[in-house]
Amino acid sequence: MDKPKERIGLEVEALADELFAVSDFLLENPEIAYEEFKACDHLSHVLERNGFQVEKGVGNVETSFLARPADCPPSRPTVALLAEYDALPKIGHGCGHNLIAAASLGAAVALGRVMGDAAGALALVGTPAEEGGGGKVRLAEAGVFKEMDAAMMFHPGSINIPGKGMLGRIKFKIEFFGRTAHASGSPDKGINALDALILAYGGINAYRQHLRPDGRIHGIITHGGDAPNIIPDYAAGLFYVRAASRTYRDDLLERVKNCCQGAALATGAEFNVDVQHPVLDPMKRNPALEAAALGNMNALGIVVDNDDGRRGSSDMGNLSHYLPAIHPYLAIVAPEIPGHSVEFRDATTSTRGRRTLLAAAKMLAMTAWDFLSSPELREKVRRDFKLSE
Ligand SMILES: [Zn+2]
Ligand SMILES: [Zn+2]
Repeated sequence: MDKPKERIGLEVEALADELFAVSDFLLENPEIAYEEFKACDHLSHVLERNGFQVEKGVGNVETSFLARPADCPPSRPTVALLAEYDALPKIGHGCGHNLIAAASLGAAVALGRVMGDAAGALALVGTPAEEGGGGKVRLAEAGVFKEMDAAMMFHPGSINIPGKGMLGRIKFKIEFFGRTAHASGSPDKGINALDALILAYGGINAYRQHLRPDGRIHGIITHGGDAPNIIPDYAAGLFYVRAASRTYRDDLLERVKNCCQGAALATGAEFNVDVQHPVLDPMKRNPALEAAALGNMNALGIVVDNDDGRRGSSDMGNLSHYLPAIHPYLAIVAPEIPGHSVEFRDATTSTRGRRTLLAAAKMLAMTAWDFLSSPELREKVRRDFKLSE
């Protein structure tokens, strides 16, 4: 390993207790999307203590922040390290975002101490509301990443991999409107909105057989009527479509609308499909930047796994269309433990969780260092970004 990377490793080790404390604070104070006030305050405080200047509420999102080393004014190229810190309802940090925040913070502080006369600058961006809120979409739309050249974070998981695909996603509400009537006395006068929704659901289910491997449609019925003796005049459900390309994702929504249309025709009910924001884009991969992360994973002795083909969605997908971005995973649990679970949450304070946190901080800082110190890598990253969809 070259000298600066060795020093990054030592700096991260020196920060270990502080990073564990940050992760534990977030774990013990879980806050859901756009309510991460304590997290935002705590992270800002730790950053200021470590010589960073912090601006809170960037991009008109109250619980976001943008931090830079006080002695490192904005310049190009800039690497953005991203900190997620939102929790899930009920199970708290079941997605391990406490580790994401602590690792990116550790990477930023360590890199800030080492980078000296490397070209460019570094920023740590606090990106709230990954879980359903699309915080990164709002920040990107507000121009927070406009003067930045690459974005990176790590996500805890059950495999070690420098990158894998993420699906684009549209969340939408389906509503059917019918007419109430006595279910026994005057059924001929009613229009059953629940039947319409169930027919639409059946149509969607039948269509599922014909999806491409990357296509997903899943949903629930949230309202199915008010009493058995009243023909329901209103029924509603929440659904997702997902796909590996924006075109196919949008195509699936049209197919679902056709199912609703068929059900409306069959029952006489009317329907409405209401797309909820944010719409998530699939991850635009950057092979050159992923290769740099892979090199650093190897250097750190992390055994890299094969892609398990399991796909979710993230607002990181949207961000990856604004600037080159990577979203590597490092394991904190065995493959049989799912994300968004109590076991996953508890693993963030395990010995393995702690070790992974430090490895992630090192890997991110080393990859950011590669980007800032190598014009060749920056050129390759730029080329990959232009080439891929
Ligand atoms: Zn999650
Ligand atoms: Zn997550």
